[in-house]
Amino acid sequence: MNKLFNGEVALVTGGSSGIGRATAMAFAAEGAKVVVASRRSEESEETVRLIEADGGEAMFVKTDVSKTSEVQAMIAETLKRFGALNFAFNNAGIEGDPFVPVEEYSETTWDQVIEINLKGVFLCMKYELAHIVKAKGAIVNMASVAGLVGGRVGSAYYASKHGVVGLTKAAALEYADKGIRINAVAPAVIKSAMTDRTFFHDEERTAAVIARHPVGRG
Ligand code: NAD
Repeated sequence: MNKLFNGEVALVTGGSSGIGRATAMAFAAEGAKVVVASRRSEESEETVRLIEADGGEAMFVKTDVSKTSEVQAMIAETLKRFGALNFAFNNAGIEGDPFVPVEEYSETTWDQVIEINLKGVFLCMKYELAHIVKAKGAIVNMASVAGLVGGRVGSAYYASKHGVVGLTKAAALEYADKGIRINAVAPAVIKSAMTDRTFFHDEERTAAVIARHPVGRG
């Protein structure tokens, strides 16, 4: 059957769970060879197993996207196994300290959120781009509705996701004449491990989230 990504190579950071795992599986279902890059080995291996059980091809590369050497190794491993990189979904992210106002926000957590959510996307693009340009592929960065509007769910998260939007716009224009697309997606609240921790463990927060989604669910 003719599939959308037959034999092409797709890299998904944060592919060990949630949106990343679902995207990795969707890429594989459309014929892509998938690289699952994430920090957590057991969960990422499970993503690979799920893809293989569906007849797809995938590999796990243990990667912390905030570490240059690990991002470089992620790209090297991708090329070694699959020989090319066509698509990247730079999705890995953390929520930081939800519902903590600026005055009380931990500087350590601030640094972690910016390092992973914003610098991580920069580092991934920095080392992916040469290969994606060569393949005339595409990059999608994970922003959030928190990259478009304000809110009370943690300043570092909003700052990092607004940063991803700006970074994506800049890179998209820098590389527009190279025949590739660079976009960001900005979901509202999707049920995942992250939003279970942030919202869905609490009845009041769950009700507030659902009330703000016209579809009536997260
Ligand atoms: P999740 O917690 O299930 O997924 C986060 C993934 O990122 C995990 O695989 C985790 O291991 C990985 N990760 C975290 N730090 C990492 C690091 N330093 N290096 C490599 N991998 C790392 O949650 P999710 O909801 O699937 O979130 C995925 C992305 O989507 C995040 O960037 C999040 O900010 C964004 N997002 C989520 C929602 C939502 O409602 N769920 C909405 C908008 C944006």
